[in-house]
Amino acid sequence: QCDRALYSEVMISTIERQERLEVIEGHIVDLIIEGGICYGAILATGEKISAKAVIITAGTFLNGLIHRGLEQTPAGRIDELPAIGLSERLQNLGIVVGRLKTGTPPRLDGNTVDFSKCEVQEGDQPPPYFSNRTDPQKQINQIYCFLTYTNEKTHQAIRENLDKSPLYSGTIKGIGPRYCPSIEDKVVRFADKSRHQLFLEPEGLNSSEYYLNGFSSSLPEDVQLRALRTIPGLEAVEMTRAGYAIEYDFFPPHQISVAMESKIVPGLYFAGQVNGTSGYEEAAAQGLIAGINAALKLRGEPTFKLLRSEAYIGVLLDDLVTKSTTEPYRMFTSRAEYRLSLRDDNAQERLLEKGYRLGLVGQPFYAGFLAGKEAQKHLIEYLKNEKITVIDTDNPGVTPKTITAYAALKNPGIDTLDYPVYAQVATRFGARTFNSLLSDIRYAGYIERQNRRIERQRRLEDYIIPFSFDYSRLIGLKKEASQKLTQFRPETLGQASRISGVSPGDIAVLMVYLHRA
Ligand SMILES: Cc1cc2nc3c(=O)[nH]c(=O)nc-3n(C[C@H](O)[C@H](O)[C@H](O)COP(=O)(O)OP(=O)(O)OC[C@H]3O[C@@H](n4cnc5c(N)ncnc54)[C@H](O)[C@@H]3O)c2cc1C
Repeated sequence: QCDRALYSEVMISTIERQERLEVIEGHIVDLIIEGGICYGAILATGEKISAKAVIITAGTFLNGLIHRGLEQTPAGRIDELPAIGLSERLQNLGIVVGRLKTGTPPRLDGNTVDFSKCEVQEGDQPPPYFSNRTDPQKQINQIYCFLTYTNEKTHQAIRENLDKSPLYSGTIKGIGPRYCPSIEDKVVRFADKSRHQLFLEPEGLNSSEYYLNGFSSSLPEDVQLRALRTIPGLEAVEMTRAGYAIEYDFFPPHQISVAMESKIVPGLYFAGQVNGTSGYEEAAAQGLIAGINAALKLRGEPTFKLLRSEAYIGVLLDDLVTKSTTEPYRMFTSRAEYRLSLRDDNAQERLLEKGYRLGLVGQPFYAGFLAGKEAQKHLIEYLKNEKITVIDTDNPGVTPKTITAYAALKNPGIDTLDYPVYAQVATRFGARTFNSLLSDIRYAGYIERQNRRIERQRRLEDYIIPFSFDYSRLIGLKKEASQKLTQFRPETLGQASRISGVSPGDIAVLMVYLHRA
């Protein structure tokens, strides 16, 4: 968990300091559409803002409806007005609108929690920084999270009040996130479990408020409080805010291209929760790609695409446009088939060059990256010249072998902590550089096999399918495949191959036609 207030402060100041960026605060109620193309937005005040590209990032605000017990309040977030009218306008333009639901747990007053009854959850030491630009030596003040558990009494308090739950009384129609169920959902669906873990996460360094991760709920406020007070450490707890569920409109994402532009209304882009995702990283990744592509389009340059084999962002966007979604989508690492290569230690190798070419990475940082690549070459040379004696501790009878420190890394049985040379090179060349090399060497065989699969798949990505391609005239294409391809309008043969209902046989038929075209 990060400091919410500090984060917000830093981001506002970053936005304010950004050159050539004008911030206009206002409520968008309509779009300027001419000849089916989007040319700007209209504020509630009637003011028109012309733009060659518009990106909709309305989160949970479109026709947002908060549920707490059987009480319903139109809202975008708690205490914020919903956005009404925009969904209807988009629907009239032919864009399909769906309905989803998400929820949030209660916030607790830390002064009313008995932390001595909870387990301390310390952060990692040293803290792994999110960005490569952060100096790994930088020290920041860390505070603890805490762990506690629900019990049979908690579950009983919840079960007795399910009739007051909008989820179980049928009031909520939107589909919720499968992997972050509410506490009432967990109690019902996993009835055999006698407890569920709950994390108390501080909201900030200077805040006494705690976020109760794992206790998302839309039960009435008094029921939430009663259930909470059955939990060790929370016997006298006070809520600063009760949990709630929110239903909102979204636009099933098969309606956008990988550039995140609407396939129906050119000039209009969609990013974030409105595309059916849930989560900060998911939203940030989409905002980045939509922004890049809107700018590239204005400059008349080709779309910026990331493949599934290049980045998690590539997996996210490909899943959205080829599979669409009917429930809140979260970017789990398990969704990526090329996980061996999508590692945080090689993120720079995969993406920095692209960022630099787009003008998003400055020269000094890029120069540092190139120097790091040089350092890796020196590291390899160094390890190839250093000899170590390897002792097989499991088989003491085996004669110790002297091999190069580089060759030794190929042996998964070797613990690098046992050999001082590795600690020395990690200090000299950087722990990140060393760990990245170690992963590359250890998984070399698998990575090679994976690279062959990536290459085969990449060839399919080179086949571009024209937007107006008429699938109905293809002989040999299954009916389901023809329908799905017409609905999703994939941009490449690679995308087509990942649409459910499209078989390898259908791809072969399509390839023959594309060859002839
Ligand atoms: C209470 C809550 C807790 C959450 N906790 C977590 C968490 O712990 N971890 C996690 O990963 N995710 C969490 N999420 C999900 C995460 O916050 C969202 O998925 C993410 O913020 C979505 O980003 P977004 O940019 O798409 O939309 P939002 O962050 O919702 O931003 C939408 C913005 O659009 C503005 N807006 C909307 N309509 C209009 C309009 N018509 N005119 C002008 N402006 C408009 C709104 O004012 C708002 O600022 C939580 C969500 C909620 C609601």
